[in-house]
Amino acid sequence: MTITSSSTTPTRTETRHYSQLIGGEWVQALDGATLEITNPYDDSVFATVPASTRADTEQAVRAASAAQKEWAEMLPATKQQLFLRAADILESRTAEIVRALAEETGCGAGFAHFQISWSANLLRQAAGWVYQPNGELLRTDNFHTFATAERKPLGVVASFTPWNGAHVLAWRAVVAPLATGNTVVVKPSELAPVTAGLLIGEILTEAGFPKGTVNIVTHSPEAAADVAEEFYENPAVRCIYFTGSANTARIIAPKAAAALKRTVLELGGYNQIIVADDADLDHAAKTVAFSAFFHQGQICMNARRVLVHRTVCAEFTEKLVQLAQQFPQGDPSDPITVIGPLITDGAVQKTVQAIEDATRAGARVLTGGKANGRVFEPTVLIDVPANVSLASEETFGPVIVVHPIDSDEEGVAMVNEGSYGLSFSVMTADIGRGINISQQIDSGAVHVNAPTINDEPQSPNGGVKDSGWGRSGLSGLDDFTEIRWTTVEMKKRELPL
Ligand code: NAD
Repeated sequence: MTITSSSTTPTRTETRHYSQLIGGEWVQALDGATLEITNPYDDSVFATVPASTRADTEQAVRAASAAQKEWAEMLPATKQQLFLRAADILESRTAEIVRALAEETGCGAGFAHFQISWSANLLRQAAGWVYQPNGELLRTDNFHTFATAERKPLGVVASFTPWNGAHVLAWRAVVAPLATGNTVVVKPSELAPVTAGLLIGEILTEAGFPKGTVNIVTHSPEAAADVAEEFYENPAVRCIYFTGSANTARIIAPKAAAALKRTVLELGGYNQIIVADDADLDHAAKTVAFSAFFHQGQICMNARRVLVHRTVCAEFTEKLVQLAQQFPQGDPSDPITVIGPLITDGAVQKTVQAIEDATRAGARVLTGGKANGRVFEPTVLIDVPANVSLASEETFGPVIVVHPIDSDEEGVAMVNEGSYGLSFSVMTADIGRGINISQQIDSGAVHVNAPTINDEPQSPNGGVKDSGWGRSGLSGLDDFTEIRWTTVEMKKRELPL
């Protein structure tokens, strides 16, 4: 039975009119243009933000560049205080941010609280990280020589932050570059400029981060390519950190490469779970339901297909369908809601289309399959043929495909034939079997008896193949630094000339 949560509609936050952050100043777009941000659940106006162009972006890059040297040279003790203060301020604003995430991105309370606690933890880890050794003492065949390999910041990092895990992924895209001595220009998704950008600017400003260390430029969808041009062409930008889809990465990466700039790409996935015939099926069904339906399927690590040993497939599927029918759906501002709205009408249409294509080709919908407004029912399908998009592409809706397999080998082959490689799980009572299966999978992350949605600030999250490259959180050290080799000769060396 589906429980609908919106018997009483929570009141909305009054529409707030934001400025953007450039060089420590809160400013409007140079041409004064603004963009309305609407609530995906009911289309009420959540906020207005500046609709910038490339000219605003150029100012933001200039401010970031001007601030970079001083920021890189700031004493660790001072940086530590700033990161710790930012964590405290973030937590003190929890209620407001939970609400903003619901009203701007349709995010339920569970995921919103996770986003805040994860981000505060990231900031506190960064505060400790600034005291970590910053390089190595090298051995050398030259007598009396002192040689080091020291990590140096790149300069300005341009961070494209997404709407889907808006707050946590924006902190992720800012903290590692900052901790390594870079300054940042954030270009949040036009669907979530407040939670994926401006709120972070407010918190870092209040914490006392120097002017220009973080700059936030908001814009309309039409201006995205133009704003991005500044990042490719401005020589101060040394790295483009993109979190989004593989399709957009295919536009950005060649342009960055032509400008000989580094990219870090955190992209989508077609994440799969193998359920072995010895698995605890209740636990497996709960793990799959969470992996598939959390945040209504709009997380890059959501599971899209579950490969179940044929002998237990019917029993497992029945349990999964029962769970799918129990999640409260409706207004994400209501704390009991589990399944809120998809972000746009386009996202709903894409999900409907994918299900229609699959059913036309012979698939069966076991539960769900319909949208009420933008709230899409948790959906389970079976008999999905290999030639439809649901068998290889992320829907970004709460949809899971069940597929029976006859052996572990068949499951491993099916997972590896896909083009993505972000997150994978296997459920089994035999840990050795789980490790054996997981080690054969081409994926940035593999988990035994854990959900595909699995992340901690210190974990090396990231993808292989079409899921991108580079690692997020505080393990992305190499991505945001260059190594400088330094030698010092203490005695005059005999030279051959
Ligand atoms: P998207 O690819 O549509 O990217 C949107 C971003 O690209 C926006 O900032 C937009 O302004 C910008 N953009 C659009 N056209 C552009 C152009 N021509 N030039 C430059 N920039 C342009 O992604 P999305 O739909 O917003 O996000 C969802 C995707 O992100 C999913 O595929 C999801 O799996 C992925 N994702 C991955 C991770 C990860 O850590 N691996 C995390 C979150 C989301």
